[in-house]
Parts: sequence; structure tokens; C-alpha cells
Amino acid sequence: MFKALVIDNDEQGYRTTLKDLEEKQLPDQDVTLEVSYSTLNYKDALAICNKGPIVRQFPMVPGIDFVGRVINSRHPQWQQDDVALLTGWGVGEKYWGGLAQKASVSGDWLVKVPTALSPLQTMAIGTAGFTAMLCVMALEKQGITPQHGPVLVTGASGGVGSFAVSLLARLGYEVVASSGRASDSDYLITTLGAASVIDRNELSQPGKPLAKERWAASIDSVGSHTLSNVLAGIKRDGVVAACGMAQGLDLPTSVAPFILRGVILVGVDSVMCPLPLRQQAWQRLADLVDGEQLQKLTRVIPLSAAREGAEQLLAGEVRGRLIVDCR
Ligand code: NDP
Repeated sequence: MFKALVIDNDEQGYRTTLKDLEEKQLPDQDVTLEVSYSTLNYKDALAICNKGPIVRQFPMVPGIDFVGRVINSRHPQWQQDDVALLTGWGVGEKYWGGLAQKASVSGDWLVKVPTALSPLQTMAIGTAGFTAMLCVMALEKQGITPQHGPVLVTGASGGVGSFAVSLLARLGYEVVASSGRASDSDYLITTLGAASVIDRNELSQPGKPLAKERWAASIDSVGSHTLSNVLAGIKRDGVVAACGMAQGLDLPTSVAPFILRGVILVGVDSVMCPLPLRQQAWQRLADLVDGEQLQKLTRVIPLSAAREGAEQLLAGEVRGRLIVDCR
């Protein structure tokens, strides 16, 4: 028997409960792992609390990312006792996820944990840190370097935003953090390494198609009017990596930034990201992330408190990362 958070949706309604399951109830995938840690992402919280159409079949074990030890494998790449991590691929949405003591998944979805990272650190980074790294790599791929000038990060105190600020700062970029938490300026500057902070209200209202050129590049996890104002304020030939929709799914912009300033908008999707890019991003994270800083951003809760943690996350009461200890 093992414990798992299970979402049911039937005649008794939508409910999330901690259950005892038997191993034979796991999906028949080619690698079974003993999960050590998972995390609570915004998507997980929406699924657990029935606040968005995340889960596509029931019963579902939520948890879009996890790290664990292989206990059984029919996959050629994976042997017993290998330590592997998983993010995305529809796990926790379409396939059973990581908020459980055991998980069975396709070996094609797993990434070897870099030697420099502990399992706990891996999940402290999780989908948020991984997505931020993909965004940084997207800017680099378009030729952006610290010499090009300041880089704006929106949603800076959020999961993706915090990592984006910290990774860019460690790589030597001048980071401008846009945040709605004025009280977090000290955290954004002293802990994460931003050079300056702007109020997100400057960007969140409808604006002009083109504005003063301010930033060489941007990582945006907010979308909507914020992203259109970001595009309007990017310098000639600048680049924006867009990965989120915290303000909205819409993008009320014009072609002006693209055809008059050569701005490039790059979309970043961590869910279906191909394996070689995943491996590269995790190695970069292992090289760049500061273990001490990571610890400051992390709170560990037991699996039995995951539901409560999800509610706190949706209520905006969580800063940093909530790691779920599934052992
Ligand atoms: P968080 O909730 O941790 O952070 C989002 C941040 O956005 C908040 O902390 C806040 O930052 C800001 N924000 C929230 N609401 C608004 C608003 N109405 N207007 C402007 N800013 C707002 O989420 P994550 O960082 O985990 O995810 C951010 C986005 O990225 C989400 O939309 C998520 O779905 C998406 N995402 C996409 C991935 C991909 O593969 N493309 C992977 C992971 C996440 P502040 O208080 O500093 O203003």
C-alpha cells in the first residue's frame, strides 16, 4: 500500500482526498518510482481545489513535477535505484502525477538528476525554475547578452519570475523586476539580485503600441496588457520570452513593435519541451543555482498538508516554493 492524493469527480462531486492505494492500481507505465518530493505549482493548486479545468480524467493523482528513486523499470534507459525527475508531459493532468508515495510513468519523460543537485533542491527548482531557465536560454539563443542592457522580468515575485530574476542576475544581467508587491522590493533586490523594481501597475493597463525604448529583453509570465506594454517598451531588435498568463490569456497588441523595431517574441513551453533541451536546462540550473538562496525560498510540507498548501497558494499567502515531502 502507498499514500496518494486522489482527485475524484463523480456523482458525489469533485473532491481531493489522501488515500491508501495498492501498487497494482498504478497506471501500467514502464518505470515505477518511489517519490521523494513533489511541489505545489499554481496548476496543481487549481486542480486540487477545483478552480480550473486542469484535470482531464478521473480519478487523478495531481502533481505536475516530482523526483524519486526507480524501483522497477522495463525501460532501457532506467535501472533500479536511479534517481530521476519529471516535469510536465501532462503528468498530474492527463496521467497520474507526483503527489503520492509512488508513481508509474514513461521512462521517456524522465531526466537524470544532475549530480550537483540533491532531490530536495531539484524540487525546490521544479517546473518554475526549469521554465525560467528555458526562458533565459531562449533569450540567449536570440543573441541577448548582459552587454545589450537591462532585462525586465514581470511577475517577479512569483515562482517563474523569482527564478528568472535570480538566474539572470547570476549571469551578470541588469535585472529590472516588475512586481505588485512593493513590500517585496528588498527581497527582489537583496535576496534575488534585481538591480531595480518597478510597480506592475505601470504595465498592467492598456497602453500605446509603441513606447519609450527601455529594456533589451524581457521574461514575461503575465501576458495580457502587461505583455503588450512590455513589447511596446523593448529596444530595437530586443527579445521577449513569453511563458505565462498570470494577468490573462489575451494579448492586445499591434504589429508595431515587430515591424518598426524588429522585436522578437519567443514562446516558451516547458510541458512538451524535448528531452535534450530538458537535460541541457537542468545542467545549467545545477551550475547556476545557489543552494543557500534556494533554501531560503523553500518550505517543506508533508503530503497530508498538500491540500491546505494548495488553498494557501491560491489565496496568495505563499512566497517562494512549497515542497511536498512524499516519503
Ligand atoms: P505564480 O502565481 O507563482 O506567479 C505569478 C506572478 O504574476 C505573481 O506572483 C504576481 O507577481 C504576478 N501576477 C499575478 N496576478 C497578476 C495580475 N493580475 N496582473 C499582473 N501580474 C500578476 O505563478 P508561476 O510563476 O508558477 O507561473 C506564472 C505563469 O506562468 C502562470 O500563468 C503559469 O500558468 C505559467 N507557467 C507556464 C509554464 C510554461 O511551460 N509555459 C510553466 C510554468 C508556469 P508580483 O506579485 O510580483 O506582481
